[in-house]
Amino acid sequence: MPNDFQLPTRLGNIRISVRRSLKAKRIAVRYTPRKENKFELVVPWNCPYEEALKFAQGTTEWVEKIIEQKAEEPQPEPAPQYMTRELLPEVLNFPILGGTFRVVVCEDENREPFIKLDTNEKQLILNRITGIPIENVQKSFRTILTGHARIVLTPLMEEQVRRTGLSPARLTFRVHRSKWGSCNSRKMIALNALLLFTERADIDYVLVHELCHLKQPNHSERFWALVEQFCPNHVMHRAELNRIQQELPKHLIGC
Ligand SMILES: [Zn+2]
Repeated sequence: MPNDFQLPTRLGNIRISVRRSLKAKRIAVRYTPRKENKFELVVPWNCPYEEALKFAQGTTEWVEKIIEQKAEEPQPEPAPQYMTRELLPEVLNFPILGGTFRVVVCEDENREPFIKLDTNEKQLILNRITGIPIENVQKSFRTILTGHARIVLTPLMEEQVRRTGLSPARLTFRVHRSKWGSCNSRKMIALNALLLFTERADIDYVLVHELCHLKQPNHSERFWALVEQFCPNHVMHRAELNRIQQELPKHLIGC
């Protein structure tokens, strides 16, 4: 049995990879957009290859339809490689650090490129970042956020520890794409530094949520009953956190 074959279609020959499967009960042609070789013929272990090939030939119209649909879909914008002013927002909102921060881009030739969050003047200053690989700027920004999060969120956590009587073995901070917080089986809680972009009440909800996981390491009814005890408005806070997540300055954060 070959590893692949060419399926003739009216859009030209399409390469289809072939995989013998012990689990599959019937022949199938699958489309997996993430894989480089997007079409795959799955052949059950006891099925002759010729039979599978005949089946695949019967899916020609379907294969053509998928290719045509893909061609019509808008292509995602390629991620920018270098930082420019246009990729940055005008302002950032850090409620827990005092509100709206201006984003100031400067070109001071006498100083090295840098990025600094000035909480006194409420500014994010970026010097000579134009043309710098965007990943470097994002990495620096994430480091800055993590540092501030540690300073600001640690006392808030201590407050919730006192209030709930639940205490983590360790508290860590990082920037995370999709989770505001997490709690592992070793009772370590990790908080997302992006909480700096959210309101105090939303932060308290996340802290309570993670602390409650120390007692209930799941999202069962008992877990939510416990959360509700300390944070009756949790549904509202979850909605608000989802909204804020959509509005984060993604080019600056980079995840
Ligand atoms: Zn949870």
